[in-house]
Amino acid sequence: MTIPPKMKAAVLTEPNRLEVREVKTPRPGHAEVLIKVEACAVCSSDVSLMAKPWFGQPPYGKHIPGHEYSGRVAALGPTVDEFKVGDRVAVEAHLGCLRCINCRRGDYTACLNFGNTKKGHRANGFTTNGGFAQYVVNHINTVHAIPDSIDFDEASLITNLGCVLYGFETVGGYLVGDQVVVIGPGPLGLISVQVAKALGAGKVYLVGTRKARLSVGGKVGADRLLNVNEEDPVKLVLKETRGRGADLVVETSGGLETPQMAIEMTKPIGKILMLGLPSEPVRVDFENVIQKSKSIYTVRGEGRANCARAVSLWASGRVNLKPLVTHSFPLKNISEAFRTFVERKGGAIKVVVHPNRNH
Ligand SMILES: [Zn+2]
Ligand SMILES: [Zn+2]
Repeated sequence: MTIPPKMKAAVLTEPNRLEVREVKTPRPGHAEVLIKVEACAVCSSDVSLMAKPWFGQPPYGKHIPGHEYSGRVAALGPTVDEFKVGDRVAVEAHLGCLRCINCRRGDYTACLNFGNTKKGHRANGFTTNGGFAQYVVNHINTVHAIPDSIDFDEASLITNLGCVLYGFETVGGYLVGDQVVVIGPGPLGLISVQVAKALGAGKVYLVGTRKARLSVGGKVGADRLLNVNEEDPVKLVLKETRGRGADLVVETSGGLETPQMAIEMTKPIGKILMLGLPSEPVRVDFENVIQKSKSIYTVRGEGRANCARAVSLWASGRVNLKPLVTHSFPLKNISEAFRTFVERKGGAIKVVVHPNRNH
């Protein structure tokens, strides 16, 4: 593969402004590969960090966002024999510093040196350059080979699947026969439904407000769809579980009312997994949580070996992320890609950008 000295990339130049510019193509160093990006998905984290910088984010004019991407290995850095040029790959965003106590235990998404690039930490698209570009450099620990059965658009969602798997691992993972409620039929919710079913959950409820998204939930395996505009989800879950409540509630919407809803529909000693990020502090009734011994868990990002597990689950055909990718755009139309995602135009769920295609 010939690598051009310059490439096109979307640079964050000021709040909410991405400009497609010509920049130097990066070169892979020790234990790194250069990836030619085929697909990079827009995520609500991108929308958030473009509005207001996240911790460790490079200054305006220097940052290329995009952390959900897939592509082909285009060049190998010194010492790399784990991959070869042309390999089809998907990536996870976080490389920990690999030296703090959390990283040494494998909890690299909670690296204690987060944002400290001098110490080796990087989170592509957040604290270092990401995939809204024709090429990007990744440490090999963040790269996963994917089989031909997974196309690049679907593969760009690997961190979404990895994040959900990490969440289920954190709550204990054993779901056989459990009553599971998923709140929010967005990307993480629709994936949570599939993973809960794949892990043997009994009945999976999906709670949402939009008919179109809920119907996708039905297609990917939700047993019971609950439209908040038509039914009271707490009453209904309690009724259908004979007053007990759900064993596990997964909150993926990031809503301000839904954390309390999750608490009320969880059975005593049940679990609540928070994956959605509320935009402001929320009020919840901790008396209900404590008096009934309910546990609240959180995870940030894809964590531990869960992206590798994601590839395996995918390859076995037990999850299908294709229905989630609804729109795609070339890099030059990246602003339109973001508008489509944010305004959910045309029923948009996940929107991907193709930096090396003109469409
Ligand atoms: Zn993301
Ligand atoms: Zn670390």
